[in-house]
Amino acid sequence: MTIHYRIEPVSPEAHLFAVILTVSQPDPAGQQFWLPTWIPGSYLIRDFARHIVSIQASSQGKPVALTHCDLQRWQAAHVDGALQLEYTVYAADLSVRGAWLDQTRGFFNGTSVFLAVAGQENTPHQVEILPPSGETYTQWQVATTLPAVAVTSSNWGQYQAANYDELIDHPVELGEFMRLQFEACGIVHDVAIAGRLAQLDQVRLCKDMQQICETQIRFFGAAPFERYLFLVLAVGDGYGGLEHRSSTSLIASRADLPLLHETTQKTGYRRFLGLVSHEYFHSWNVKRIKPASFVPYRLGEANLTRLLWAFEGITSYYDDLMLRRSGVISEQDYLELLAQTLTQVERMPGRYVQTLEEASLDAWIKYYQPNENSANALVSYYTKGALVALALDLTLRQHSQGKCSLDDVMRCLWQRFGAADSAGVGEAEWEAVAAEVAGFDLQSFFDLALRSTTALPLAELFQYMGVQSQLRITQGAQDQGGWQAQTLPRLSLGAKLEAEAGFTKLKQVFTGGAAQRAGLSANDVLVAWDDLRVTPEWVERQLTQRQPGDVVKLCFFRRDELMHCQLQLQSAVPDTWGLRLDETDATAVLRRQHWLNAIAP
Ligand code: ZN
Repeated sequence: MTIHYRIEPVSPEAHLFAVILTVSQPDPAGQQFWLPTWIPGSYLIRDFARHIVSIQASSQGKPVALTHCDLQRWQAAHVDGALQLEYTVYAADLSVRGAWLDQTRGFFNGTSVFLAVAGQENTPHQVEILPPSGETYTQWQVATTLPAVAVTSSNWGQYQAANYDELIDHPVELGEFMRLQFEACGIVHDVAIAGRLAQLDQVRLCKDMQQICETQIRFFGAAPFERYLFLVLAVGDGYGGLEHRSSTSLIASRADLPLLHETTQKTGYRRFLGLVSHEYFHSWNVKRIKPASFVPYRLGEANLTRLLWAFEGITSYYDDLMLRRSGVISEQDYLELLAQTLTQVERMPGRYVQTLEEASLDAWIKYYQPNENSANALVSYYTKGALVALALDLTLRQHSQGKCSLDDVMRCLWQRFGAADSAGVGEAEWEAVAAEVAGFDLQSFFDLALRSTTALPLAELFQYMGVQSQLRITQGAQDQGGWQAQTLPRLSLGAKLEAEAGFTKLKQVFTGGAAQRAGLSANDVLVAWDDLRVTPEWVERQLTQRQPGDVVKLCFFRRDELMHCQLQLQSAVPDTWGLRLDETDATAVLRRQHWLNAIAP
């Protein structure tokens, strides 16, 4: 019984892959085929079948009737002998979640291009990857962690996956990319960087990535893969990643990568290393330690869980912390990143509306389908989840006098749920494991952190850990958080502005703010402020020059209708966090070192 796919970038200029799927022993009752509606790691129904352009079945050279049963299923009529399916897939999604093909490169996730053979998902799946034909493509290569069976020096040829689940968990890059390599704890790590790129500091990049990977492998005690691949696409402006069992696909802004002769660490590079660290941490947390509702993935429907905060939030907590523990960033740099996360959560009025468990469950229809009101209605299970992880970590350290931390909980989860045949973490089980490792009751902590919208008691925890915190007034549109010795008073509009085609648009209007009280809505276009033309910079200046209670006359367009309102300016409320090292208490400094450097007490 064999399943064999032959995939060819048949028409790069038309963004088309051609696939021939051969099933040696099709279902005698008529073989069904299906394509996933979503890709694990990205919780949104995407209906990948919409990109299938043409499809037909045949057997021994003769056409076979093929019925489209529902949006992602097809059924072939009964045949004696092998059945072949030939189809083309339109690949023009530049994200890490789909498939792409043009004259410059190709990329695909199995969820976009490989139809599953119903009933045979657990048998081995063979794949033959062919190069595009033509002189233009002679230098193209393949990068993937799909296990190779027989490949050329450029990696074209035969691959095999143990089952469909594995087949779709190894993304594939095609093209002329830069190849780098380093070892972490004796394991080979490849980096394939696609996209236009000059003057990359390869040595620095590999050294930093190696430090991060080694820190994480040592943290868990073992790597769950035999080799690892970072697929990186460098673009003008982009950011994103998707985790897989032994690889990750990343999109990064070209300017965020380290260049030769750059001596300082730019913010963008820190962001890129944070992304590397995040996706790599998922190798343990979500790719192996999984919610029970993901075992197995049901790829035709939303797989709901209240635990996404634990898989995305905790991973978001450790991504930056691992940068610090690996020595890639300083303690103060780490505190600055943490202050930015605190600020992001503080500025979302939705944190008083949605609990973290609700945010996890509703991810499919809310977080992944944001709109102009999201900040008022949602909390992010990434950022708030990271703060819950922080609060839990510091609470465990405080309560146990340093004997126990979130690190121990993660290692226990890894021991208990990391095996390939694990049933996954049950909805109530994560909290039970944490309480068991801690050795004390955590019910009230989790009730507050996950099932209420009450703020976390972080200021006291910071103090205990030798960190001074401040909650201050923002100092302008560029202020993302961080310690400020002095702050100036300021007014707030209660809205986020954006310049668009020469106009000033309200991108978001926040609950209870001055703009909402005045009757302004998201997408309104400001025209005049006290009869003068408006730009976002001009509004910025007004907010530092006017007095609280001042009333201004605004003209704005809603769609094509000119409207007027009076807006009363309000004082800005503190919504920006700053953190800095506090060296006054030697015991607290020691605790902080245990936390930020993972030194055993
Ligand atoms: Zn993630």
